[in-house]
Amino acid sequence: MAITRWSPDTCGCVIDYTWDPDVPDGARTHSFHAVERICAGHDGLSDPPLFDTVLAENQTKNRLHGWAVANLARLRHPLEDRLSDGVEFRWSFTGTGAGRRLEVWLDGATLTAGEKGLMRAFAATLNTPATVR
Ligand SMILES: [Zn+2]
Repeated sequence: MAITRWSPDTCGCVIDYTWDPDVPDGARTHSFHAVERICAGHDGLSDPPLFDTVLAENQTKNRLHGWAVANLARLRHPLEDRLSDGVEFRWSFTGTGAGRRLEVWLDGATLTAGEKGLMRAFAATLNTPATVR
């Protein structure tokens, strides 16, 4: 088993997880190994559910960002796989522990009601509760 030290960009936790290098990329699972540091937002949480909570928060943020790039064609950079110059995907969390809620929005652009509806429908399929502002 290999051990990877992970510092998600969604909180200040530092977590070691294990994975099997003999399993192909797409089929790999990551298993909790140890907490190196716990952030204020997750203080008091141990594993489980610490790792799943931190992972779900990070993946939910990343998937919403990816959804915005893939589905908001009018806001996509013409040549690169990202949002246009001047449009920024932003996010923050409210609450603590396993019940933190993600909030996402775009700076530099206003989503139409239709776009918000589609993004909220996608957000509802993800593991961390999320508000699309
Ligand atoms: Zn944390």
